[in-house]
Amino acid sequence: MPNFALSDSIFQEAARRFPTPFHLYDENGIRENARKLNAAFSWCPSFREHFAVKALPNPAILRILKEEGCGLDCSSATELTLARVCGFRGEEIILSANAMPPEEFTQARALGAIINLDDITDIDALRTHGGIPEEVCLRYNPGGRFSIGNTIMGKPGEAKYGMTDAQLRAALKTLSAEGVTAFGLHAFLSSNTTDESYYPTLAETLLRLGKTLEEETGLRFSFADLSGGIGIPYRPEEAAPDVMKIGESVRRVYEKIFPQGGVGIRTELGRWMTGPHGWLVTRAIHEKKIYRDYIGVDASAVNLIRPAMYGAYHHITVCGKRDLPADHIYDVTGCLCENNDKFAWERPLPEIRIGDLLLIHDTGAHGSAMGYNYNGRLRGAEVLYTRDGEYRLIRRAETDRDYFATLDSDPAAAELGLA
Ligand SMILES: *Cc1c(COP(=O)(O)O)cnc(C)c1O
Repeated sequence: MPNFALSDSIFQEAARRFPTPFHLYDENGIRENARKLNAAFSWCPSFREHFAVKALPNPAILRILKEEGCGLDCSSATELTLARVCGFRGEEIILSANAMPPEEFTQARALGAIINLDDITDIDALRTHGGIPEEVCLRYNPGGRFSIGNTIMGKPGEAKYGMTDAQLRAALKTLSAEGVTAFGLHAFLSSNTTDESYYPTLAETLLRLGKTLEEETGLRFSFADLSGGIGIPYRPEEAAPDVMKIGESVRRVYEKIFPQGGVGIRTELGRWMTGPHGWLVTRAIHEKKIYRDYIGVDASAVNLIRPAMYGAYHHITVCGKRDLPADHIYDVTGCLCENNDKFAWERPLPEIRIGDLLLIHDTGAHGSAMGYNYNGRLRGAEVLYTRDGEYRLIRRAETDRDYFATLDSDPAAAELGLA
């Protein structure tokens, strides 16, 4: 069930202060999630959540998470710079490499970040770009299918990430000869899963493998990184996974394999952490009736691409009409010249009038972050509803000047005040 923690009046007030469309984030909700996760893993003294920056790359949010004791998982040079600007240092930062330019290793090493190597060939790149540190993390891909009970959670054998068993062994041998003394293991085998057995199953795989590799190589196994993947209930009939229960199940697996402790646990949750605490606030500006009934809103896929890209479900409510019957069927669309620019297909909703404020739920992760500029549509603003009940603009909406800023300087544009 999507998150209804904030009342409609909060969104209506925000829309009086800022032009739609914008994403609004709830600071309290994000802090509570961080605290819940830290409590769920408090049995592991060195536990750390490294928030996946790509889910919501806004410094205001990253600073909140820092205050809650989180680190970051970065996937690019620019995200490393964001981490640096927000004051994250050393092993608070993980760089998850994936076919990236080798120069980005240099930057990560300068920050003292943990390097998560995606491939055995990354060792050469790291040696010449910043050098091999004493501790590295290796990304594992078990291949085949990853299943829990009867559910196939994913097909790692078809994924581009990570190393095979044999490569892990070869990599550790090389790294050991180059002065590495400790290693972590990372794997990301499922995305957006609400199955509470995912983390414990993954933990068991990584902890057992780490133990074996430690015995084989003599290197110290320092942590298992369970990465992201815990899902959120986008649909009304779905239930949220219980993170206390997940933490407890991981503890049981851990104590079986490492009864004396000593090995760390890290997570890199993105979606679970911030997803339910963001809403895309948009206004109905068109109604059209042809073979279906369409409501056109002032947001489009450039503000939230998940529905257009994956057909993803995002719950929609109409401000002030939460309790009215959903007795109209609409396609809710944006304005891009792409027929998949829709937020909902044949969705039962209360009757919508032009000017109504619509809330598209669960946009706090992979929402604004996946924005782009197709059709000359500009990225919208981000507003933080703070724990003091204030409305803080944490990213302004783009303007034409931003659009022109990356182009060759042009006298005609300058004349219009655009460059
Ligand atoms: C995307 C990603 C995450 C976060 O995934 P969520 O599904 O948002 O939790 C974590 N780690 C890595 C390496 C990622 O690429």
